[in-house]
Amino acid sequence: MHPPKIPILAELTPGKAERHLIKLPGAALAKDEPRPVISVTGAKPGPVLLVNAGVHGGEYPAIEAVIRLGKMLDPSAIAGTVILMPVLSLPAFRNRTPFVCPVDNVNPNRVFPGDPNGSYSEQMTHALINEFVVHADAYIDLHGGDIPEALVPFCICRGGAEDVDVKSKELAIAFGLPYVLTVTRPVQPAKGLSSYAAVAERGIPAVLAEAGGVGQLQEKAVELLMDGVRRVMTHLKMSALDPSAPMPAPAVLTRFEWLYAKNAGMFYPRVKAGDLVQMGEEIGTIGSLFGDTLETVIAQVSGRILFLTINPSVLEKGLLMGIGVAE
Ligand SMILES: [Zn+2]
Repeated sequence: MHPPKIPILAELTPGKAERHLIKLPGAALAKDEPRPVISVTGAKPGPVLLVNAGVHGGEYPAIEAVIRLGKMLDPSAIAGTVILMPVLSLPAFRNRTPFVCPVDNVNPNRVFPGDPNGSYSEQMTHALINEFVVHADAYIDLHGGDIPEALVPFCICRGGAEDVDVKSKELAIAFGLPYVLTVTRPVQPAKGLSSYAAVAERGIPAVLAEAGGVGQLQEKAVELLMDGVRRVMTHLKMSALDPSAPMPAPAVLTRFEWLYAKNAGMFYPRVKAGDLVQMGEEIGTIGSLFGDTLETVIAQVSGRILFLTINPSVLEKGLLMGIGVAE
């Protein structure tokens, strides 16, 4: 069907890029300002690709990449339709809140596919899935390190042998970032799933791509994410655009192990994002406000540090880093 029917966007016009201001359904979202959405409907039929950022509102290179794609993608050169939403969690974006949505203090990326009767974040993720994702043939959720996190660029998707998992991994590899993580269990215990896992559960190939961080707008990260989306479009035969140079094959990692502080205090890492660490290696310390060492941080696995908390203040059981492991 071309143009595709996405009821909340009303009629789409083939060969046109259109701007929409969308009120998402959900009682908790009733007073929200409308969210900007851009549809780029190709002149020719093809797949529907949904791309959003701002599930975490402080991941600015991801948000900027979606904004720029909305200005750049040329409908006359596209087969199919690209739907772009720069910011899902507008309250987090407006308030510069890392990790969670400030309305309910919930991390939206732990409550997919959401709940129409749940808290704000659950209603928001439910609306994203039911108004947008279910109408798509493929889904890209753009992220980065949050305001206190540095990271190396990587893609993450659900691991498994189902057709949707194989296709998701193909999208992740096509995206062209240096690391691809295929994971078979949630990285943190949570009420729900992360976006890509919930979307894969619906049978729709999905990938979460991360670049940039530390609350800044790094140009290189913006370009990596824009190029990645364009590479996925080429992979899906939506466009013949050839973004810059071909990418080397990514390193595939199959486990994502997160490391936490035991004590609250000052975190002094001896490593940086991208470093390879060995199990048992001393990779930092936590100090008290008197300057005493409270604990030595030990790598619990051997692997690549994919993200690292860079603000020194850490809480008891606070997140320090995520290590990608190849098995
Ligand atoms: Zn994020």
